Amino acid sequence: MRIDIISIFPEFFGVLDISLLGRARQAGLIDLAVHNLRDFTHDRHNTVDDTPYGGGAGMVMKPEPWGEALDSILPADTGANTGTDTDAGPVLIFPSPAGEQFTQAMARELAQEPHLVFGCGRYEGIDQRVVDHFAGRGRVRLVSLGDYVLNGGEVAVMAMIEAIGRLIPGVVGNPESLVEESHEDGLLEYPSYTKPASWRGLDVPPVLLSGNHGAIAAWRHQQQIDRTRAVRPDLLPFDNADAELLPPANSKARRAARG
Ligand code: SAM
Repeated sequence: MRIDIISIFPEFFGVLDISLLGRARQAGLIDLAVHNLRDFTHDRHNTVDDTPYGGGAGMVMKPEPWGEALDSILPADTGANTGTDTDAGPVLIFPSPAGEQFTQAMARELAQEPHLVFGCGRYEGIDQRVVDHFAGRGRVRLVSLGDYVLNGGEVAVMAMIEAIGRLIPGVVGNPESLVEESHEDGLLEYPSYTKPASWRGLDVPPVLLSGNHGAIAAWRHQQQIDRTRAVRPDLLPFDNADAELLPPANSKARRAARG
């Protein structure tokens, strides 16, 4: 996957050199480039912001540097530039608290894409015409990390790239470990334990030491339901009262129940 990031703080993304994503880059699974928006300015002060039309507090990011930066990244010969084939070309993502909510399902969808471009806003955000112009040339998404306001898009983009990147085949060594995670089947994950079996007076639940795989699967599934009901009842696919009637996670019956 190719990933381009535009930011006025390119140094933010140094952490993408380490850990799993750093290894994925070294292995050629992710080809990542970070571009400094100020390189696309032409004044002495490399200005990227100006006062808002209509008044109000704060500054707004100017459209010209964004236009030049994105023109330099988006391929000239794809639907992203002609608007004739919106299935072609990169997906352009602007992190924004006013965007659609980023989810595991969206991460899975975006992990299938060959090319993602992220534009990190700062100040009060980017001049709306940048979004409107590039939406007319291809696929543009405004994506929110959650219902709160960050200072800039960099942290949101880091979170998205980590969630998307680990779903690219080969990035996580054992793909099995991706299947049973929170949000993959609509429920939160069950609690995990490792050795020792007893620690500070707390014992690992005996069923996990039983060797009975059926009993372990049933216990874990019930834990998923109990946790989800307690912390995120909004995720449960049925009435809370019916939740224990669900078949085991990732079972055929469960997928059928989800439709
Ligand atoms: N004035 C904007 C509003 O109220 O919607 C908030 C601007 S915020 C201070 C500056 C930048 O941070 C945004 O352009 C966006 O790139 C990023 N940002 C802030 N909160 C975010 C969130 N919850 N999700 C994704 N990006 C966010």
